[in-house]
Amino acid sequence: MKEAFQMLSDPRFHLLYGVTQRFGMGPEPRRVRLNREGFKLVEGVAKKVMVYPRMRLAVHPSPLKGDAFAPIFGRITDITERSIFVDAVEPDDDLRQAAHEAKQQKTDLLTLTEQGRDLAVILKGLGLNTRSLGQDCETLIINALNPDPGVTWAEPMLLSHADNLKVALEVLRRLSPARDIILAVPSAMRLQRHDVTVVGVPAQYPASVNALVIKAVTGRENPEGVGIVGLHNLWSLGQVACTGLPLIETVVTIGSLRHSGNYIVKEGSTIGELLDFANIQLKSGDTLVRGGPLRGESLDKLDRSVTKGSTGVFVVEAGTIPPMEGHSPCINCGACTLICPARLTPSMLSRYAEFALHERNRAEHIECCLECGLCGYVCLARRPVLQYIRLSKHKLGLSGAEAPLQELKPRAKSIDAASAAEGGK
Ligand code: SF4
Ligand code: SF4
Repeated sequence: MKEAFQMLSDPRFHLLYGVTQRFGMGPEPRRVRLNREGFKLVEGVAKKVMVYPRMRLAVHPSPLKGDAFAPIFGRITDITERSIFVDAVEPDDDLRQAAHEAKQQKTDLLTLTEQGRDLAVILKGLGLNTRSLGQDCETLIINALNPDPGVTWAEPMLLSHADNLKVALEVLRRLSPARDIILAVPSAMRLQRHDVTVVGVPAQYPASVNALVIKAVTGRENPEGVGIVGLHNLWSLGQVACTGLPLIETVVTIGSLRHSGNYIVKEGSTIGELLDFANIQLKSGDTLVRGGPLRGESLDKLDRSVTKGSTGVFVVEAGTIPPMEGHSPCINCGACTLICPARLTPSMLSRYAEFALHERNRAEHIECCLECGLCGYVCLARRPVLQYIRLSKHKLGLSGAEAPLQELKPRAKSIDAASAAEGGK
């Protein structure tokens, strides 16, 4: 049991890395796979059609979801219910001319007068998701911590991309109804900015989980009128505001828990190409993860791709974290309950999910799960606890883009990660 909690002092769970250089550029993809789930294809977009960078391919019916654009010169090779596949081609003169004209059609967000919903519609047309940026709240917190252990782009975004953030904040003040905007950064950074209130918070995972950042900044759990948005989302807004062009890229950390680099990569880049680019070779027993090592999703194919919201591509090397053991039974050790920052009982949640008793998980407040992944990490039986919880949430309709901000389970007794760590020593 004691060992289970030593992870909280494990240096790999520090979320501050001293990384300050600007991001490198990722590879020029040979193939991209774009998400089109829920999107409507633009007229004329079909198999074999030639495309150029920033050509609009599909539109989402939600006014808060950014349209889909081609990130490269290429030919559409397939369109399915879920994806648009584009193979790169060497452009001819016509295609180059079309790309040149698209690049001239810039939108100067800083001189526009639109605000709120009207501005959100313009940003949607530039490929930006604005659900979190423009949420209805009085105080908006920007979560500027690296979201997961091993993800390292937050510090360079704050320190070396300060111009991007300055412009993003200007646009955000017109988009967001919030009276106050607060930038939550690791307290050890001692960051100072003149254009936004800066608040220092602990930088030890799971402190970067949204509900815990809100608690650290406001001193309250689930306070009314407080919203939160990730720094990654703000960087995307800054990218669109600085270029005046549709968003076709994202920033990801590519690497492992030990070695990694931050890159600006084209949306739809496949995981296989990104790993090749970073000179990472998969070995037997390694796990491939999109997102962070604790909260990301493991992948079984290298042709999966990154989206605008992707934060990392990781290889968790065999032996770094003991592998999950499929259906291994719970041994009631209680480690997951002690570590859970949402005060849940993950052992029960996972058992109900395992036996398809999903309705029982409502009474267990499964909706309060923050999906931090700590329960699975500490599980002595190596049960895929978080995966079971996600399955149950999915069955109960509690997951997906429209899911509300996850809360902490209401209970008088307060066990957060820090007190759990003290109790475990
Ligand atoms: S139940 Fe949810 S909040 Fe609790 S430790 Fe597991 S993933 Fe984290
Ligand atoms: S799920 Fe894992 S950590 Fe939780 S009580 Fe069961 S064996 Fe222990």
